Amino acid sequence: MTQQSASVVIIGGAIIGSFVAYSLRREGFKGSIKVIERDSTYQFSSTALSASSIRTQFGCSFNIGMSLYSASVFKNIRQWFGEDADIGFEERGYLMLGSPEGADIQRANALMQREHGASVDILSPEQTLQRFPWLNVDDLGIATYGAANEGWFDAWALLQLVRREARKLGVDYVQARASGLTCTNGKVSAVRLDDGSSLPCDWCVNAAGPASGKVAGWLDIALPVEPRKRTVFHIKAPVSTEGFPMLFDNSGAWIRPEGDGFIAGIAPLDHLDPNADGDFEPAHELLEDVLWPLLAHRIPALEQMRLQRSWAGHYEMNLLDHNGVIGAHHEIDNFLFATGFSGHGVMHSPATGRAIAELITHGQYQTLDLSPLGFERIRDNRPIVESVVY
Ligand SMILES: Cc1cc2nc3c(=O)[nH]c(=O)nc-3n(C[C@H](O)[C@H](O)[C@H](O)COP(=O)(O)OP(=O)(O)OC[C@H]3O[C@@H](n4cnc5c(N)ncnc54)[C@H](O)[C@@H]3O)c2cc1C
Repeated sequence: MTQQSASVVIIGGAIIGSFVAYSLRREGFKGSIKVIERDSTYQFSSTALSASSIRTQFGCSFNIGMSLYSASVFKNIRQWFGEDADIGFEERGYLMLGSPEGADIQRANALMQREHGASVDILSPEQTLQRFPWLNVDDLGIATYGAANEGWFDAWALLQLVRREARKLGVDYVQARASGLTCTNGKVSAVRLDDGSSLPCDWCVNAAGPASGKVAGWLDIALPVEPRKRTVFHIKAPVSTEGFPMLFDNSGAWIRPEGDGFIAGIAPLDHLDPNADGDFEPAHELLEDVLWPLLAHRIPALEQMRLQRSWAGHYEMNLLDHNGVIGAHHEIDNFLFATGFSGHGVMHSPATGRAIAELITHGQYQTLDLSPLGFERIRDNRPIVESVVY
């Protein structure tokens, strides 16, 4: 096989699949690239329904490295995607609040994040109150604030840019539903489509988001990635959005500015968080019963909030350890995973695209070594737990 005659087929054409396709061309891959996407409106994709924020405050160093790379892309978006490129990147920190009992761990985490290049301020409750006077800090022991490379952006605009650029570079988007994989001599040789046709391939990338566990199942591979529903509430409140951070309360509640209001959410308890396949109904009761009281405790002015609208999307939840799965299957070695990000896939899409492109084009990582995220840990049931998850 020559570079020119080689072919990659990517299942899933939202933010991860599109960054993989685009990055392959940037890495110099010359063969054919086809992206199979069943819904060109992306109505139910995680990408379109996400809160589109980026942080560097992680417990695993590779996640910090991925975020720093992504932030450099977001901050220089015009250099990457042309003068008209605009993803509305608002560089503003995550304010992570911690209890007195959790303070030592959070401080140690922040020091580790700094060692890996993140800019993280460590604040006492008093310092936190000085910077954010509308906060109730009575029961806090610590706060950490991302002083650079954190914030939020327009994921939809980013997706449109990457798709546009990928197309310009000769990537072919195929509107179809992938329905099966054909294996020949221990390799994926074709992706079957639901119209009965097949697309032959030398590499197949599973970027199907919450459906990627199902896609792996076509090869009898047990990939523990499932759709888990997360509801976002858009509210108005008599609180200024000026300087308001992406706030993560120690209760698990989060809130950040969106336009002249806010968006907020909280994960349901584990036993109320089943496989959500096909369920996009917002969990309305979460706001009244759980989220509102927690937010009003932390920010008393939020007693006055008014709900504008709500929506629900799916995390592609990696049930083993909440970390992405990136790289080839250990036996079917032309079948690559780019999934399982469990709530941080949009922010890590540029780094994931580059990683998969390096593996296909050069046979190994050239920049960030993401081998800890490989499938082997899934095979061996060896979690690398990301402790900072929401
Ligand atoms: C409420 C919410 C808030 C979030 N907040 C953040 C955040 O602040 N920051 C962050 O980084 N991440 C966040 N995430 C997570 C982030 O949205 C995801 O990690 C990311 O979008 C995953 O991208 P993806 O391309 O893998 O998946 P998706 O966007 O779901 O794309 C997968 C695509 O594959 C297609 N597909 C699936 N099966 C097939 C098939 N058989 N044939 C053809 N096509 C198929 C689907 O149609 C879909 O378009 C959030 C998610 C949710 C739900």
